[in-house]
Amino acid sequence: MSGINGARQGSGSARYDYLIVGAGFAGSVLAERLASQHSARVLLIDRRPHVGGNAYDEKDTAGILYHKYGPHIFHTNSEMVVEYLSQFTDWRPYEHRVRAVVRGQQVPIPINRTTLNMLFGLDLKTDEEAAGYLASRAEPVDEIRTSEDVVINAVGQELYELFFRGYTRKQWGLDPSELDKQVTSRIPTRTNTDDRYFSDTFQAMPLNGYTAMFEKMLDHPLIEKSLGTDYRDLKDRAHEIADHIIYTGPVDEYFDYRFGKLPYRSLKFDHQTLEQEQFQEVAVVNYPSEDVPYTRISEYKHLTGQKHPKTSITYEYPSAEGDPYYPIPRPENQELFKRYEALADETENVTFVGRLATYRYYNMDQIVGQALATFRRIDEKRKHERPPPTAVAAE
Ligand code: FAD
Ligand code: UDP
Repeated sequence: MSGINGARQGSGSARYDYLIVGAGFAGSVLAERLASQHSARVLLIDRRPHVGGNAYDEKDTAGILYHKYGPHIFHTNSEMVVEYLSQFTDWRPYEHRVRAVVRGQQVPIPINRTTLNMLFGLDLKTDEEAAGYLASRAEPVDEIRTSEDVVINAVGQELYELFFRGYTRKQWGLDPSELDKQVTSRIPTRTNTDDRYFSDTFQAMPLNGYTAMFEKMLDHPLIEKSLGTDYRDLKDRAHEIADHIIYTGPVDEYFDYRFGKLPYRSLKFDHQTLEQEQFQEVAVVNYPSEDVPYTRISEYKHLTGQKHPKTSITYEYPSAEGDPYYPIPRPENQELFKRYEALADETENVTFVGRLATYRYYNMDQIVGQALATFRRIDEKRKHERPPPTAVAAE
């Protein structure tokens, strides 16, 4: 692309104000803010051939919109994040529901009163009855540290084994006792019959999909995109290309794995298009049993509302190899990350932001929030460095 090759201008100054590495939520929000609010010249690169990062969606050969990197459902409690993204998309109201296949039945997950009644042949009628039943099974843990503790403390051993132990071992390649409590704490336990996966105030899908939203966000004359471009191929001349770098890739890779590799968990996606209108009753069905090699099957038409005589689904197979998708929350990894973070803090003119660069198990809305907060810091710094000129004197 001409932008990169012609990067250095005769004047000796860099061609762009910002080189942004990664066109996912973190990189794209910052590109949009810097171009639209600071009139900054931005070069946005991604080694993948598309924008959107892991939220990228596209139509498959049958014309069905699917998510290339697994199902992405938007949910948030942040009005600010909704307001920001709503500049680039309308929304399709959608409340996510998930079932888990347990003992041959498809039951609601998060565990709720319906789950208990179905699984144990009960007739619990009120929240109080369900709470009492769960209390009779729960095995209180004094200090809740791990992902095992969280669940055993809330629902006891049997439900832990049925819903969480196998799924987590498959998903992370680790026993829940080896993972920080934040992982299974993502899933509540309910005593009512609410079978929605999330409890957030705002739950919706971008009306025309994520990619369309990203394209609108990045449609600005000061943003130049270079897709299929790896930072590793540019890094020797990065500071000639731009005055400042915003990096949203894996932080250990940026520093050439100086302290060793930071573990990230990967997935293999098996996308299939089926000659039938519907495959399953809800968008996602989880398979917690270790006898089944995949963790979940997703069917996109539930998310998108698309009408089509065929349907597209994805099986997710967790994997140690492949693209980094999930930082793995456990104390030793956090310690290693802290060493990289200290290096990152010392690195001038590079800002590290996003799920891979800050090694945090963040959802999309949290990444948008993080990127907007990063922009505010850049904005403050800029105001501080360049106070607005006084009207006439500056002319
Ligand atoms: P990414 O989307 O990972 O973007 C980083 C980009 O940087 C990538 O496109 C990558 O190619 C690029 N890059 C990295 N290194 C380089 C390099 N050297 N040179 C050039 N480019 C580089 N969140 C939700 O809120 N709801 C969900 O339902 C949900 N479901 C998920 C399901 C799965 C299977 C996964 C993996 C994640 C899910 N998430 C979900 C989380 C969501 O994907 C992330 O929060 C979000 O995508 C993070 O955005 P990001 O910009 O930080 O990172
Ligand atoms: N989990 C589980 N069984 C389930 C659903 C979730 O054990 O049926 C655990 C598992 O460890 C998973 C974590 O809870 O990784 C968080 O689940 P979530 O659906 O939030 O995962 P994500 O969508 O981020 O993959």
